[in-house]
Amino acid sequence: MPSFNLLLLAGDGIGPEVMAEVKRLLGFYAKTGVADFQTEEGLVGGACYDAHKVAITDATMAKAHAADAVIFGAVGGPKWDKVPFEVRPEAGLLRLRKDLSLFANIRPAIVYPALADASSLKREAVDGLDIVILRELTGGVYFGEPKTITDLGNGQKRAIDTQVYDTYEIERIARVAFELARARRNKVTSMEKRNVMKTGVLWHEVVEAVHARDYKDVQLEHMLADSGGMQLVRWPKQFDVIVTDNLFGDMLSDIAAMLTGSLGMLPSASLGEVDAKTRRRKAMYEPVHGSAPDIAGKGMANPIAMLASFGMALRYSFNMGKEADRLDAAISAALAKGLRTADIKSEGCQIVSTAEMSEAVVGELDRLAR
Ligand code: NAD
Repeated sequence: MPSFNLLLLAGDGIGPEVMAEVKRLLGFYAKTGVADFQTEEGLVGGACYDAHKVAITDATMAKAHAADAVIFGAVGGPKWDKVPFEVRPEAGLLRLRKDLSLFANIRPAIVYPALADASSLKREAVDGLDIVILRELTGGVYFGEPKTITDLGNGQKRAIDTQVYDTYEIERIARVAFELARARRNKVTSMEKRNVMKTGVLWHEVVEAVHARDYKDVQLEHMLADSGGMQLVRWPKQFDVIVTDNLFGDMLSDIAAMLTGSLGMLPSASLGEVDAKTRRRKAMYEPVHGSAPDIAGKGMANPIAMLASFGMALRYSFNMGKEADRLDAAISAALAKGLRTADIKSEGCQIVSTAEMSEAVVGELDRLAR
């Protein structure tokens, strides 16, 4: 039985509730001989601030570096609204992304047939949707310098953010996009604003060059990011893998999220570079949703985003694509039985708790594995 080391960082609010359901899944994999996941746990976010006055400790960061993958819940909540900016709960998440150099953020937007009516778009536009938004996560305008607000002394202020991309940053995210597409429907759509931005010109040029050099077998198209946003809500099924920069990716992935109906359904993966020696890559897996303070402690949280995030770990960190497919099928089967947490409730369906939903998923997994 293969063995892997995980660092579980549950965080705040519903984080620990949905992380408990990952542990249930790990128990199932150990019991059935699929894999032995050794786990360590750590504090992050508000929970870590309460204990150590920082959002993540150096000791936990060392464990994150050593782990085969980090599984992250969610952080934040009104309790920590007034803590100093540098130690706010989100600082823990940002440090993990930065220190582990997790430059590739993969967000699938999948519409399970049973949930097609939960989308704000018509059923025919989203039924069976399965696309991926790949966002560059460690560069661009969120990190570029200078980043300042200057008082001009005449009653005016000037704010500057700087959008910067180097060739290597575009090359490595383009490679991830083409590799992802090869394992899917073999199509990449690259989105930028080369009509008005120099970074867009370089982005386009580098993606073309990487394609011509190593990935001619993959279909590549380019789209201006604003037009891409329009196409995403017009006919999202035209896409397979969308690759874009940090800023556009932030927006386009939220648009794609809403196509699927609920935040409680959306997983994500953030990957670093492959280590030339070990052939392993640093990786963190987390649901897209936050700590949902409004429902925390009530047993109402939808565990599917968290379970599906673990499914992405199976696929991208542990080379267990078949197990990942099976987990997706188990989620789909549990939904098809009419089980729903409150966030995705619809008429004629049975409302279940966090634990009941994941019990049902694990039950379906067991059935599918036989
Ligand atoms: P949120 O994602 O926590 O919640 C938005 C809405 O979606 C709420 O009504 C919530 O009940 C619902 N929701 C979210 N996840 C759900 C789930 N699994 N099941 C059922 N319903 C779910 O976003 P918010 O309310 O804007 O933020 C709350 C806190 O979370 C804030 O402190 C924010 O900073 C933080 N946050 C953290 C992350 C993260 O840890 N990655 C991401 C976003 C927000």
